[in-house]
Amino acid sequence: MKILIILDIHNGVLSSSNYALVTAGKKLDEDITALAIGQDIQQAVEKAQCIQGIKKILWVEDPIYTHPTAETICHLILQHAKNYDAILSVDNSLSKNFVPRLAALLDIQPLSDIIDIISPTQFRRPIYAGNAIATISTQQEKLIATIRQTAFKQAEVSSQPANIEKITPAAASTLSFFVKQQITASERPDLKSANIVVSGGRGLQSKENFSLIEKLADCLKAAIGATRAAVDAGYISNDHQVGQTGKIIAPQLYIAIGISGAIQHLAGMKESKIIVAINQDENAPIFQIADYGLVMDLFQAVPALIEALKK
Ligand code: FAD
Repeated sequence: MKILIILDIHNGVLSSSNYALVTAGKKLDEDITALAIGQDIQQAVEKAQCIQGIKKILWVEDPIYTHPTAETICHLILQHAKNYDAILSVDNSLSKNFVPRLAALLDIQPLSDIIDIISPTQFRRPIYAGNAIATISTQQEKLIATIRQTAFKQAEVSSQPANIEKITPAAASTLSFFVKQQITASERPDLKSANIVVSGGRGLQSKENFSLIEKLADCLKAAIGATRAAVDAGYISNDHQVGQTGKIIAPQLYIAIGISGAIQHLAGMKESKIIVAINQDENAPIFQIADYGLVMDLFQAVPALIEALKK
């Protein structure tokens, strides 16, 4: 089975999610080629060369790939798709954009958000906001799938770099084009890759009070998460939302403060290694999945925690 993985590269930086992507690819077969698309991506390509399991990297650089649209990426992948039995990418916003189009153009049913590869024809994926796991069998001639990065181990680093082949860009699409992007600049760790996440919910009651979460996150050098209720109430911007319709994360430590533990929120954080919950309601569902729980008013608990950490 020949596998093509689409590398996750942002602003020239190779995302750590690619290590999980390679592990997923290796569960299908050892014959893995990686496609590196972007502009000014030499460093990312050199790093990807050393991910154990990648045999070859197809490297394409062009200004049209600085902010590629689904149509432009699909033009490129389609030129190479016939050489591969499986095309894998990480389940992120880029692949949510291009994978449905690619699959439609190849007349294949794509499989999304795969958390386990049982065999090259059998996969597991969460459904109903992670409340059930579906086992899916496919007999299609080609596999197009996205994988959940937190469900696969990181591939090792290799001392034997993969071969590189530079390929020519395909034509840019004229159907749609990039206009602009708005990025929130932050000194804090990235929510998706942070080791520690401090997350706040509606229990904080106001935007001003939400600064307690920020102070605690600063003490722990943590990223900040939030529930949809906190985002909808305007306590923090929606790029911090964790859950079914937000980011899916699995940090080493997740601290949930003033969060009830609705299934849509748990869908985004229940794979965290250690979960700590602070809630004044001892019956809050978050305590069912918490490793450590503190039943207490957060307005007493969090300032005390911050004081203790500062000592
Ligand atoms: P609440 O449920 O109101 O809980 C607040 C908690 O704070 C309570 O448990 C309360 O006991 C506690 N509290 C209050 N005051 C204090 C205090 N002083 N000290 C300590 N504890 C206190 N939600 C998400 O988070 N992410 C998603 O991606 C998401 N997607 C959704 C998609 C769909 C289709 C739908 C229908 C809903 C989605 N939701 C999502 C919303 C979800 O159902 C919940 O409404 C939301 O997660 C609740 O947020 P919360 O825990 O902050 O608020």
